[in-house]
Amino acid sequence: MAQQTPSTSDPTETFEVEPEEDQELEESQLDPEVAARRAAALSQVRKFGDPVLKTRARPVQRFDDALRSELQRMGQLMGDALGVGLAATQIGVLHRVLVYRVQQQAPAAALVNPEIEWTGAETESMEEGCLSLPGVLVDVDRPIHVRVRALDEHGDRIVVEASGLEARVIQHEIDHLDGVLILDRTTREQRKEAIRVLREAERAA
Ligand code: ZN
Repeated sequence: MAQQTPSTSDPTETFEVEPEEDQELEESQLDPEVAARRAAALSQVRKFGDPVLKTRARPVQRFDDALRSELQRMGQLMGDALGVGLAATQIGVLHRVLVYRVQQQAPAAALVNPEIEWTGAETESMEEGCLSLPGVLVDVDRPIHVRVRALDEHGDRIVVEASGLEARVIQHEIDHLDGVLILDRTTREQRKEAIRVLREAERAA
């Protein structure tokens, strides 16, 4: 994979497939087997409050079988969790790697040591969720177009030019690698409300 063409995905698609309705409702609408797989995958994802989520990940230097199986595991977890992106920090691994998939049938894409090389001037605000922040949706303003340089699982250079949802997902996951959450990118009011929701869920658990 040398280069990916800009995404044509539906911009109305919900980010990381977090529902607007409450969690129970959504779980009950899923096939029981899918819901069980999702719950198992989510239990392996670090949640808000875990210090690893605020930690900057380190560049990968070895492109070996261990890295490739790590990426494979991340792709599997992301699929099972019904997410569109996952960063290694979210499973407690401080490697600068991420996986994402914005079109359901497409294979998971992996970026190692990604760096945003260019962003367009145009930005848009869209609601985002995060597998590490269950039940939270906040508005995040981001550039619509980005160009990212990265390495693939074999250490070969790749360039990704992305727009819309794909660009948003990549920026969200690179943020994770820098210890940045969507709570850090939204308004003060939405951040306050999101933290209230998270604390309440923590108490109920
Ligand atoms: Zn996230």
